[in-house]
Amino acid sequence: MQNPLCPFKPTDFRYAAWKAERKALRFRAKKNRFRVEPGPQPKNRSAISIDTSKAKSTVDVLRLCLKDLGWREDQNPVPQHYRSEHSMHMHQLFLIGYYFIVLKSIQWVKRDGGTCDLYWNSVHFTEAEDVIAGKVNKFPGMVEVVRKINLGRTLDLMHRLYPEEYDFHPQSWFLPQQFSEFCDVARRAHERRLKQVYIIKPDEGSQGEGIYLIQEPKDFISSNNKRYIAQQYITNPLLLEGLKFDFRIYVVLASLDPLEIYICKEGLTRFCTIPYQHPTNKNLGEAYMHLTNYSLNKHSINYLHTESEEDGSKRTMSSVFKQLDRMGFDVQQIWDDIEEVVVKTIIAIAPELKVEYRAELPTYKYVANFGISCFQILGFDILLQADGKPVLLEVNANPSLRIDFEHEVAPGILEHIHSPVDEEIKRPLVMDTLLLVAPRTRIVIDDPKSATHDSGDECEYVRPPHRGFGTLSQIYPRKYSTDFDWLRILDRTANIFLDCLGVRGALRMGSTGFRTFARKCCLTTSGTGFSNASLDIMYIDLQRRWEHVSPQRTSGLGFQGFIEAFFLIAKKRFPGDTILESVENMLDYSEANIELNSCDSKKELILPKLTRTEKKVEEMKSVYGSNNRKTIGNAYFIDYKRFPVEKRPRPLRMKSFSLQKE
Ligand code: ADP
Repeated sequence: MQNPLCPFKPTDFRYAAWKAERKALRFRAKKNRFRVEPGPQPKNRSAISIDTSKAKSTVDVLRLCLKDLGWREDQNPVPQHYRSEHSMHMHQLFLIGYYFIVLKSIQWVKRDGGTCDLYWNSVHFTEAEDVIAGKVNKFPGMVEVVRKINLGRTLDLMHRLYPEEYDFHPQSWFLPQQFSEFCDVARRAHERRLKQVYIIKPDEGSQGEGIYLIQEPKDFISSNNKRYIAQQYITNPLLLEGLKFDFRIYVVLASLDPLEIYICKEGLTRFCTIPYQHPTNKNLGEAYMHLTNYSLNKHSINYLHTESEEDGSKRTMSSVFKQLDRMGFDVQQIWDDIEEVVVKTIIAIAPELKVEYRAELPTYKYVANFGISCFQILGFDILLQADGKPVLLEVNANPSLRIDFEHEVAPGILEHIHSPVDEEIKRPLVMDTLLLVAPRTRIVIDDPKSATHDSGDECEYVRPPHRGFGTLSQIYPRKYSTDFDWLRILDRTANIFLDCLGVRGALRMGSTGFRTFARKCCLTTSGTGFSNASLDIMYIDLQRRWEHVSPQRTSGLGFQGFIEAFFLIAKKRFPGDTILESVENMLDYSEANIELNSCDSKKELILPKLTRTEKKVEEMKSVYGSNNRKTIGNAYFIDYKRFPVEKRPRPLRMKSFSLQKE
């Protein structure tokens, strides 16, 4: 879809020149910048501190919160390793074999208490260099994990495993790799006289850039080295006042292991600016009708900036929910469905994040109590269908936290104006996130007396602690863990991947790691049908096929490729009615063998695996009743099919019983 302001089509050679000229114009533009200045800094040394030097456009809302909280803003933190002069000979002596870890430890001990408690980056985890302690507001690898193709692939995989649970994401194809599959599906739809529309989005695009609608795959315009996602276009969105809209839901991933998810009760609603019509040849190019992006619609003459709750092109989610309630929709049900979409999506992406986290923070174990931990605010774009059913469009790793908007008062003259709607939503979100992740023991700011005593200075700026807005509600584990824990199958696969990866800090599994995996899980034992050679061939084949995913990274099999290998082996080795059944059986089998192999005594290694698996079955039988077992190869398993899907027993963790020693 063409930029509505551009008089040329994207294929027109003048398009690039127009874009460059516009970019230059914006660069030179006189900008009247909206800005929140830093407040007076607390002199209390124990006040919580936050590094805002990398916060960029988020700094305004952060400053508003910091002023309320009485926390310290550090705009130019000294790199942590320059902090103090203490020598570290003792550590070097003790940890000489762990060169890398030693360095990290040295850096930590060198701290003189002046480092920040929180680091607020604008995009990536790695922006805050040299951080070795404190909380960082980005997870390593999040941007890559939620990128359109990657997210689509992960949700597709979950759909294969749990078709009924993961039906909230439009069917997608990754182009150019899956172009022939895309053509096949489109042809079949055409044969059934179904009029389909597809939306094409560049993988790395944002703010609606480069998006267009097509009716047939032949209209897809491929461009060199660019990857796209083709997606089923939702042609029946719910409309308000005739306009298409979508929600930006804010979610805080407070911790990955254990998983902790919060949802913000207030969100944004973004409206299109031209009344919606069913897509036809004539209106396919109307960006203001089909795309809800603020960055596009703000250029429309119909765009309405207003402080009122009930109209305007950007409104609070609660005001739209009130309107939907008046229209007779069950808004509580819609909200519950949205929460479920959020939890299921994070359950799907968490295993890959865990792999990235381990690779980026290999020493986290050694500095567990004072090392780095992460949290992140995510933006979920959710569209409602005409019946109120939510559809997940995308997850933004870096949702805009600006509280101003850009207004082009004349060509080349931009003004940044304060936006009350944005502040109403984002200020409580940021404030509550800060309160959630800050060190608990220091969350209450000292009263003036103790602050004065502590710092030795006259404390001019001590405020009573802000209690927050109560806008975040925990949806996992508090609300949904019992319902959705059975979906965390990829998490168990990630544990096996990490266990066999070999090199700490690596993201990809080499051929040795893959062999270790086969050995630890006893996949090559006699009678299983897998020889070392056949597994080697599988490894080489998959590695080649998955090379295109993050080609810039080191060679080897990444986590997604490993999952494919795992599923292939599961299908052959543990055939079942569904892929889920095969994978669950293989996970049980692999976990049992890994645990067995990790026992230090050689004696235990030669214990027949059967005894152990049988013991597990006995234990499960006592919990879930007898006669629910079946035999596959030389192992025994609980027969999951006998339980209704929602009541399937979670496999007992192997830790729940000890090995029988001879
Ligand atoms: P971007 O990251 O560029 O904003 P999105 O995936 O959010 O890309 O898509 C931009 C807009 O296009 C969305 O806000 C939504 O209005 C519309 N859109 C995207 N995908 C679909 C879809 N499958 N069906 C209907 N509308 C869609």
